[in-house]
This record gives sequence, structure tokens and C-alpha cells, in this order.
Amino acid sequence: MKIEQVNEQIKKCRKCRLWQGAKNAVPGEGPSTAKLMLVGQNPGAEEDKTGRPFVGRAGKFLDKVLAKNGFNREELFVTNIVKHTSPNNRKPLPDEIAACAPYLEEQIKTIKPKLVVLMGAIAWLAPRVEGVKYVETYHPSAAMRFTKMRKKFEEDFKALTKLL
Ligand code: URA
Repeated sequence: MKIEQVNEQIKKCRKCRLWQGAKNAVPGEGPSTAKLMLVGQNPGAEEDKTGRPFVGRAGKFLDKVLAKNGFNREELFVTNIVKHTSPNNRKPLPDEIAACAPYLEEQIKTIKPKLVVLMGAIAWLAPRVEGVKYVETYHPSAAMRFTKMRKKFEEDFKALTKLL
């Protein structure tokens, strides 16, 4: 399957309740040839409005850390484990994660990145695809707020260059 086809399925998805409160699905974005994929939790208000991942405050912080380490966001595929926003930005529920995770698995199998960075404890639940390396780090929202987490988050991104 092509990445566009996977993304079209995501836009039509009704497998859990989250689509009902969302303006847009946020399938993710980036080239189908990306070597590096970043995975967050689920879209927030800005992402819901625009249909694009990580365009709010956490996204701005993430962009800075990427740039600092020589990564060009346009070369990465950026997505989330859950593709619709949730009421009052609550954490996705286990059944919502279970319903949505197969889309992420399909995206990983289609893009075949070398490395997938899972950002935050919900993203750590992502399906693992054979032959792909995974790195678990904090969510950018947490890294933004807490110094210790920010240091580790920045170290983890710095170390990525050696894994690619
Ligand atoms: N937080 C996430 O986990 N994902 C986004 O796309 C934006 C904020």
C-alpha cells in the first residue's frame, strides 16, 4: 500500500469514538522515503485545526531540538500513535490506542524507516516492525516543562545521528 492510501483510510476512520469530536484527522506528514520517523501521542487543538502533526507549542519546541541537531523536519515522517484529537486533550484510552495502532504499523511498514523515535509513554506502546530500530524518549511537552527531561530528550536526539 502507498502512504497516501494509508492516510486516506485514516481520514475516513470510525473505529473508535474520537472522530466525533475532531475537526480533522491528523495522519502525519513527511516523505514516503523518510529514514527517520517521529511518533507522538495524539493531535492537540492546533493539530486538529490544521490537520498537521506537531504544529503547536510542543511542535515548535521539537522543531528547535531537530534543527539544533542538524535534522530537517521536511526529511522526516512525523506522526502520532492516535490520529484524532481527544476531548479536552485527555490521554487516549486503551481501546482508542488499540484501534489506531494498526495504522501506525501500516505507515511504518510502508515507509520502512531505519529508525522510529517514540516520544512519550503512550507512543512507547507502538507496534514494533521487524528490521526497524526504535528509540524511546520523552514527549516534547514534558521535555519542554521539566529540565531533567529536557536534558535527556536533547541527548537522545543528539545520539540519533549515530543510529542512522
Ligand atoms: N502532541 C502530540 O503528541 N502530537 C501532536 O501532534 C501534537 C502534540
